[in-house]
Amino acid sequence: MLRQVAEGVLIHQSEFCQSNAVVVEGRAGALLIDPGIYGSEMACLASDLSGLGQTVVAGFSTHPHWDHLLWHAGLGAAPRYGTARCAATIRDRLSGPHWKDSLAGMIPPDIAEQISWDLFGLITGLPAETTRIPWDGPQVRIIEHQAHAPGHAALLIEERGVLVAGDMLSEVLIPMLDLNDTAEPIENYLAALRLLEGVAGDIGVLVPGHGSIGGADQVRARIDQDRAYVHALRDASVPGDPRVGPSATFGKDWLPGVHERQLQQLARRTERDGTPG
Ligand SMILES: [Zn+2]
Repeated sequence: MLRQVAEGVLIHQSEFCQSNAVVVEGRAGALLIDPGIYGSEMACLASDLSGLGQTVVAGFSTHPHWDHLLWHAGLGAAPRYGTARCAATIRDRLSGPHWKDSLAGMIPPDIAEQISWDLFGLITGLPAETTRIPWDGPQVRIIEHQAHAPGHAALLIEERGVLVAGDMLSEVLIPMLDLNDTAEPIENYLAALRLLEGVAGDIGVLVPGHGSIGGADQVRARIDQDRAYVHALRDASVPGDPRVGPSATFGKDWLPGVHERQLQQLARRTERDGTPG
């Protein structure tokens, strides 16, 4: 079911981790950001869109993690974009012969069987430093940073005051740092929060990759909450964060212990480099 969150901006929420797909209506069709997870849900989205007389004219993936890279044949064959760094990361990960197996290892079987990998990860990288998505509709500013994943993009739909935040600023998920691809995961995360803070005054509707939609009053609160968590992680202190613990796992068995795992990985980095990054 599509739900309007601002003029010409609609959300389709997945049962998987409250993943939000975002539809932006343009002049000749829609832009679809992070389309969804289960095949049946994306088929439902495709039929909702055709019910509105909309075809998808462009896609965009906010970052190179599997739950943001899926697609469904019913959504058509529009170009699907990401940042240059996002696309390069996907290319790199998919170039090995065993990418499906390694992904399958991360996803519980009951979820994996509802996912189609047919059109997975077919992302065209936009040239580095591209500041807007090339399409015929409301201007969408790309705010690229290196928190959470390489080439992660937050998208600001300027005329509508909507920020599509990707996997940050969620009220259900703690910040998950990119501890594999970068030498400075903490600093990258804090830098990304500063970038988002810089546009906070322009945001009336906040759409996180997972979780519920926030109003203008939520923007700074969620930025502050994410920053406080990252500071606690950096200082290896105990975060007073309601998202840490079972509530952050959606009752699933694939996300528990994220906080503990991050703490351990950062402790190993500190041992090795003298700083968590
Ligand atoms: Zn995600």
